[in-house]
Amino acid sequence: MNQTEKTIGIGELNHGRFKTLPFSHDFCITCGLCSSSCPASGIDGFDPRMLVRMVGLGLEDDVVNARWPWICTMCGKCEYVCPMDIRIPDLVRSIRGLREKAKIPGILQKGLEAALKTGNNLALPKEDFIYIVEDVAGEIAEEPGFEGFKVPIDKKGANLLSTIHNKLVNTHTEDLKYWWKIFHAAKEDWTITSENWEGTSWGLFTGDDEAVKVMAGRIMEQMKRLEIKNLLWPE
Ligand code: SF4
Ligand code: SF4
Repeated sequence: MNQTEKTIGIGELNHGRFKTLPFSHDFCITCGLCSSSCPASGIDGFDPRMLVRMVGLGLEDDVVNARWPWICTMCGKCEYVCPMDIRIPDLVRSIRGLREKAKIPGILQKGLEAALKTGNNLALPKEDFIYIVEDVAGEIAEEPGFEGFKVPIDKKGANLLSTIHNKLVNTHTEDLKYWWKIFHAAKEDWTITSENWEGTSWGLFTGDDEAVKVMAGRIMEQMKRLEIKNLLWPE
């Protein structure tokens, strides 16, 4: 991030939109505990304490267009140690939400748009999804102790609905097996859905609250449709 030598006069301060956000950045006492605890501190000069101060000074354009908010992993360590209870991950989400959509870095926006349009980040068609999960179930069934294993899809009245992270049907199908074997061993009455199964919600990472609501709402619809009371949302 560019730093300026320019002195900012009190009359130039503009808290603008940040003033209404649900955190109290003005209470920062610049103790530096957030920066000391942050695992991402120092990456491209990232400094959570400085970010909080910049927000406090109303430097909206600088923080919204900076790379810093996208370096934060939102792990929450800073929030845990902050003596003033300042919620830096919330602040980061709010800043990200002000970024122009076309300028959101990486695949986040692309994946989110695919999820909103198709029900999953990969835009994987229903028949391909079913083919993959049944193939994984077939591999499990070949292992000792799991003979006859099948993946329950859209099972009405099951006790538990499990969502699926898209990478588990893409590059990490082995990880899917661990979940399902545990369900099997625990004799859990579980199911997955054939549509809107996506367990990630990249609106969370891009500060897009409306997208988060849509994705969460779809899962609720699936639970109602299948009359399921318990949800396992690993993401
Ligand atoms: S830990 Fe809290 S009070 Fe201390 S510098 Fe960071 S944001 Fe400010
Ligand atoms: S939430 Fe972000 S700023 Fe806070 S400790 Fe984690 S990476 Fe650092």
